Formats: sequence, C-alpha cells, structure tokens
Amino acid sequence: MDWTPERVTMLQQLWGNGFSASEIAGKLGGTTRNAVIGKAHRLHLPARPSPVKLKPNKPMVVMSDRMCRWPQGHPNEPGFKFCGEAVEAGRPYCTTHCNQAYRKKDESAAA
Ligand SMILES: [Zn+2]
Repeated sequence: MDWTPERVTMLQQLWGNGFSASEIAGKLGGTTRNAVIGKAHRLHLPARPSPVKLKPNKPMVVMSDRMCRWPQGHPNEPGFKFCGEAVEAGRPYCTTHCNQAYRKKDESAAA
C-alpha cells in the first residue's frame, strides 16, 4: 500500500497518541507493524518511551530548600555530601554554617 499524505498524518497522530506500531497497522489497514515502524523511523518520529523507563531516576542526594547546602568534602570524591541540617530562616545554611559563611560580612555590616 502507499503512504498517502492522509495515512502519514494518521500515522503521526496515532504514534503521537501512544498507539503501538501493531495497533497503528491495524487501524491503517493494509500494512504491517514493521512497515509502520519503518515509516515512523523515516519520518523521524520520536521513539516513544517504554513504560518501564518512565520511572524518574532517583536522585542520589535528596535536597530540599530547608536543608543546609554547605558542602562537606570534595565534589569529585565519593564521600562528598551536603550538611543537610535545618537551615536558618531565609538562609541557605544551618546556624553553624551561617556563622562560618556570614561572620565577616555581618561584622562589617554591623560596624
Ligand atoms: Zn550546615
């Protein structure tokens, strides 16, 4: 069968809606799953994510806005992590690390 513009449009729509290649072949009629896949490939239609891969990657370090971001260790080394203590209100670090980070600035601001 020929890939008429109508059939190509239908393929693109069904593909975009997440129908499988065999389902699309069935709806178009007169074609095969392999032909649908081949045509989709030639049209550069995006590969649809398989359901298995939809799980988001679990981040290695879960950080929230309320956790101290003071780095501990070296970013290129395995033991590297963030402090993770509760932050002071409106600041990115816990009390200890706020003192370390802002002491100089606060002293000069207070003068
Ligand atoms: Zn801290």
